[in-house]
Amino acid sequence: MKPGSLLVNEIFYSIQGESTHAGRPCVFVRLTGCDLRCSYCDTEYSFYEGRTIPIGEIVQQVLAHGCGLAEVTGGEPLLQANVYELIGALLGAGLTVMVETSGAADLSRLDPRVVKIMDLKCPGSGEAHRNLWQNLAWLTPRDEVKFVLSGRADYEWARNVMYEHALSERVNAVLLSCAFGRLEPLKLAQWMLEDRLPARFQLQLHKYVWSPHTRGV
Ligand code: SF4
Repeated sequence: MKPGSLLVNEIFYSIQGESTHAGRPCVFVRLTGCDLRCSYCDTEYSFYEGRTIPIGEIVQQVLAHGCGLAEVTGGEPLLQANVYELIGALLGAGLTVMVETSGAADLSRLDPRVVKIMDLKCPGSGEAHRNLWQNLAWLTPRDEVKFVLSGRADYEWARNVMYEHALSERVNAVLLSCAFGRLEPLKLAQWMLEDRLPARFQLQLHKYVWSPHTRGV
């Protein structure tokens, strides 16, 4: 990778769909590459496709949308070392910056002003063995932890992890989401209510607003 640039899959303006910021207009910077292969992945096109863009140009493209919220995502955005320069520039421009990460990449270098949305991979993803548990130490009350569930076994796993690590007391929100087409949202809602779980039910908003396979939304 050239100094001062990143391999970018896409930059787009859309509605934030998967956090407590869901519903807010947001500019997304999707970086190329991921070292996981989750069984339900819906962004496989980000594994290899992309073009190298200087960080200054990425920032200009983001700012051109006149939006105060930016999200750096992937793939896994923390695999490219220059991502920290991009994040610093976006923060320096006064934006609220979210980073969506798989939980398998080290969070220790992220600026504490960043809102981290960290997945903890459930067994149904096929990648639970990649969770970096030491990342929990870097979470702050502004951050969010997300579980994408493929069924009841994943739900019970997530519930145990939540309680074992007192997650709901450590972060802004624990998000429980259905792997699209695998788990009925109604079932998840019922389980959460039965258990009085201190977590937040979440739908992948963009899949309902746009068609499930639309890119760049
Ligand atoms: S971490 Fe995200 S981008 Fe990577 S394989 Fe899993 S779902 Fe896909």
